[in-house]
Amino acid sequence: MNHLKRQLRRRLGPTLQLMGQATGMMQLMANVRQIKGAVILMYHSIADNSQTQWIDPSNHVPTKVFKKQIAFLVSQRKVVALDDLVTTLQQGKTPKDGTVVITFDDGYLDNLTIAAPILDNYGLSASIFLPVNYIDRGETQWIDQVYCAFKSRTKSKLIWGQNAVTSFNLDEASQYNNAYHKVCLSMLSATAIQRRAWLKTLQDKLQPSIQPPRLTMTWDEIRTLSTKHQCFQIGSHTLEHTDMTNISLKKARHELTYSTQRIKDIIGTQPHHFSFPYGRSSKDLRQLVAETGFKSAFCGGNTDPIVTSINDLYALPRIKAPSSMGHFDMLTNCANTGIWRKLGQ
Ligand SMILES: [Zn+2]
Repeated sequence: MNHLKRQLRRRLGPTLQLMGQATGMMQLMANVRQIKGAVILMYHSIADNSQTQWIDPSNHVPTKVFKKQIAFLVSQRKVVALDDLVTTLQQGKTPKDGTVVITFDDGYLDNLTIAAPILDNYGLSASIFLPVNYIDRGETQWIDQVYCAFKSRTKSKLIWGQNAVTSFNLDEASQYNNAYHKVCLSMLSATAIQRRAWLKTLQDKLQPSIQPPRLTMTWDEIRTLSTKHQCFQIGSHTLEHTDMTNISLKKARHELTYSTQRIKDIIGTQPHHFSFPYGRSSKDLRQLVAETGFKSAFCGGNTDPIVTSINDLYALPRIKAPSSMGHFDMLTNCANTGIWRKLGQ
């Protein structure tokens, strides 16, 4: 029964939701059910046309769409800093309807060159979460290295896997997609050392004709971001962008304390907020984040995306910003987003 319900919801959901929004039914039902709260948006790269060839499509929003989204938020929503939202929640209050927080993960260089001037133009605040060792090395994120290796490969055959080894013909679209998915899953769960070795193996096997440019900021650029664009608040996203549920608590503590210290040493300000890589966390890890001194943390999971006074500050949900304007109104409207989640339960 639950399976059937999920299937129906997945197939009919977006259409019903749009109809509900257009007719005002969603807002009416949200009012009856007293759904209120904030929405936290998660961005990664904001890419110009020339850059999109280097970046995994799931990780970027085109510049022109980002400009439209920000203009929409300015006219239709109330954008607040993450610090302000967390203070409201700490006081046991539910944020006002239409409250939106803007966040960026992974430290893309275009956050400085493209996103920051747009946000500055409107005087908006945002938070950025840094994988500290990637900033140290000025290293392009692993997923974009994988994406580029696949796109500019000179070899068509890839044999990949640790326990279950599979051979893929990358000239076949479905096999290409399966291989890309499998490689990304291995990298995502890997330790930093494993990931480095596998990236090298992938390069050796695919022999890409070109390498991506540096897409990640360096510390000099982070300094520029925090001094020239004071709208940006800097948070931690670990050292190595590792799935923290796959490492020991001792290593997790090191990731938290050392990333905090590095940001504080270089920027001069203690980071107050944390973003779990890939949204993956556990009760013990959230406890550790709190003990390290962070005021809040973002995690994934199938939770209600609306943030209210009852949310755990160390398990705040976010909504991935869409790469078009299609559902942006609905996604940033707590009435529509919240009522749909409640109806779907
Ligand atoms: Zn990330």
